[in-house]
Amino acid sequence: MKKEKNTVISNPFENMLRQLADVQKLIKIDQNIFAQLQSPQKCLEVSIPVRMDNGSVKIFTGFRAQYNDARGPYKGGIRFHPAVTRDEVKALSAWMTWKCAVVGIPLGGGKGGVIVDPRTLSEKELEQLSRGFIKGIYKLIGPKVDVPAPDVYTDSKIMSWMLDEYEKLVGVHEPGVITGKPLALGGSKARSYSTSEGAFYVLQNIASKLGLDKNASIAIEGFGNAGGLLAERLFTDGYKVVAVSDSKGAIENQKGLNIKELVKYKKANGSVLNFPGSQNLKNKFFSVKADIMIPAALDGSINAENASEIKARLILEVANGPVTNEAETILAKKGVIIVPDILANAGGVVVSYFEQVQNAANYYWSEEEVLEKLKKIMTDSAEEVWKNSRDYKTTVRLGAYISAVKRVAEAMSARLSV
Ligand code: NAD
Repeated sequence: MKKEKNTVISNPFENMLRQLADVQKLIKIDQNIFAQLQSPQKCLEVSIPVRMDNGSVKIFTGFRAQYNDARGPYKGGIRFHPAVTRDEVKALSAWMTWKCAVVGIPLGGGKGGVIVDPRTLSEKELEQLSRGFIKGIYKLIGPKVDVPAPDVYTDSKIMSWMLDEYEKLVGVHEPGVITGKPLALGGSKARSYSTSEGAFYVLQNIASKLGLDKNASIAIEGFGNAGGLLAERLFTDGYKVVAVSDSKGAIENQKGLNIKELVKYKKANGSVLNFPGSQNLKNKFFSVKADIMIPAALDGSINAENASEIKARLILEVANGPVTNEAETILAKKGVIIVPDILANAGGVVVSYFEQVQNAANYYWSEEEVLEKLKKIMTDSAEEVWKNSRDYKTTVRLGAYISAVKRVAEAMSARLSV
């Protein structure tokens, strides 16, 4: 939860409800359906005992929220983080519902979380925690019910332990119960860079509508899985990335950074700071001169304190929830276009869906096949969202919510008895 200047503490679930209320004003879905969309269908809390290396038993708390499955099985990652709360997991499960719906894949929304700092656990303790969480929730998940995936501080190794535990409990092979698996256990080609690849297609589409071509300058906050890979993709395609940051600091070169070299440099030095041919950014990162700003690190990083300093015309939300509601109000007055997270970072869940489809068919696609299908879904979705925003004379964020909430409401109403 973040405290902002001039505002009260913002709760992620309340933020989600506020966005839902905004979209309801525009599309006026049936009141009974709208009422059901304001809480998860289920939220399970589990206690997970772990035998620590020192012989003691420590109890961890985990949650699995299942927000809505009108369009298909619940889908959403599991995060291991000390700041996990029930409300955060509920909000994230709602956002997964909208994310799957905005790109039109036949899945609902769910999310899981365990309150833990995994960096304090040994590998053995981490494995027990991962397996213990699945023991707690396994009756609630399955390829046709609810399909978890990696999220913050969970990865393909943790997915392997979770899959193995699930298969031991149910006694059959069920690779489709979890996505983000290694290729050896039924993962999909291109899954490891699908978020940045999807974000790239969305950016290409929306930037061109604003007349921003390859000469536009781009700044990226975060140089990890999402931001770093997107920087590389943009650089390879001839775009000009002029500033990047990581947890240690930020660098700038208005002529464009050589991202291929920067990747090697960061690997060798642990940070982007002092990269030859660039200047370390002493000022705050968000005031850097750039036409396009891509927050790809933390939630709430663009907030009431720095929004007025932003010079970009376009913000692509690759991180989840990087622009707070208060910042959005300030940016809207400046005419800044914000492409929301539920569209911009949906490439990951799209390829997770492809992973499930391949698992169900027990037939695996080439990398080219995955990328071709991903490009079509991301580009068509960006087109539709942009059109909504123009037709309804609203923001791109609400344009995305219009598609998403309409689709979920339509599936719910089709299920109603007469
Ligand atoms: P990551 O851990 O791989 O990378 C995070 C990056 O942010 C690192 O480079 C880190 O140094 C940097 N960072 C941390 N604190 C910072 C700070 N104060 N200022 C600047 N940079 C800072 O994580 P990721 O997978 O790239 O995820 C980043 C965001 O994207 C998260 O919000 C995540 O939820 C979202 N996201 C990621 C994926 C995915 O597939 N990786 C999918 C959807 C959404």
